Amino acid sequence: MTALRGLLSGNAAVNTRMAVRWISSVAAESGFSFPASLARKGVAPRRDPGSRNVQWVFLGCPGVGKGTYASRLSRLLGVPHIATGDLVRDELAATGPLSKQLTEIVNRGQLVSDEIIIDLLSKRFEDGVAKGESGFILDGFPRTRRQAEILEGVTEIELVVNLKLREDVLLGKCLGRRICSQCGGNFNVASIDIKGENGRPGISMPPLLPPEHCMSKLVTRADDTEEVVKERLRLYYELSQPVEEFYRVRGKLLEFDLPGGIPESWPKLLQALNLDDHDEKQSAAA
Ligand code: AMP
Repeated sequence: MTALRGLLSGNAAVNTRMAVRWISSVAAESGFSFPASLARKGVAPRRDPGSRNVQWVFLGCPGVGKGTYASRLSRLLGVPHIATGDLVRDELAATGPLSKQLTEIVNRGQLVSDEIIIDLLSKRFEDGVAKGESGFILDGFPRTRRQAEILEGVTEIELVVNLKLREDVLLGKCLGRRICSQCGGNFNVASIDIKGENGRPGISMPPLLPPEHCMSKLVTRADDTEEVVKERLRLYYELSQPVEEFYRVRGKLLEFDLPGGIPESWPKLLQALNLDDHDEKQSAAA
């Protein structure tokens, strides 16, 4: 935790010492793997060869479905799905000065400060390690090149999946998003059916409706209004390219164009991730 936080302070020597100290404590309890540069300083990566102890990141615009696919994959692979947006929303639900400050930022569609997000993420990692978790699928982090550098400084990300969906669908998807206030499940009431024209293929995305018992408990996120979604999309396009480039030059970026809704996209995503050999797991995660 201190390492992630320390990397914000800017002193490289101090940062490295803090990173190594943090990594040592995490390595003792989990199967996380760490960059070679840190391993050379005496922290050997440890990994259970039988496990699918992945350390992946999901990138993509608001509304693209990162949460949906990342949580399905996390069930399939037995690793936690860590969404920084969820961490922020948990914080919003609490009362206190931080919650008030965050509500204003989030409801304007802006990003919260690196310090706050690193703090929340570090705490989530620490809690996970205490519970014996290992590996992760990160969703919503990194959002900026600086966050990518910080993450790269403390642990090795193996793969970055960049989910992409045509722009004319994203707004509708965001506005159709619903959350069950009781179980926290994510659903989508939008029914997208765009016909192909001028050589451009159509796209059909049926709604992702909740089970009967969640129906009356659906709520809309406060930042899923049209005005705020447009701002979040604008900000995403502005900041995402340097993050994508950061991982592209490191050979870690997997671009994935979603061809449609879950029934169409999920098998293709598994194929792209070389996970399509597990039929029983495909249905278990669905
Ligand atoms: P999301 O659910 O990923 O759309 O995130 C909801 C909100 O949480 C964002 O609009 C930001 O205000 C905040 N947030 C989530 N992740 C980050 C991050 N990595 N950096 C800064 N702010 C974040």
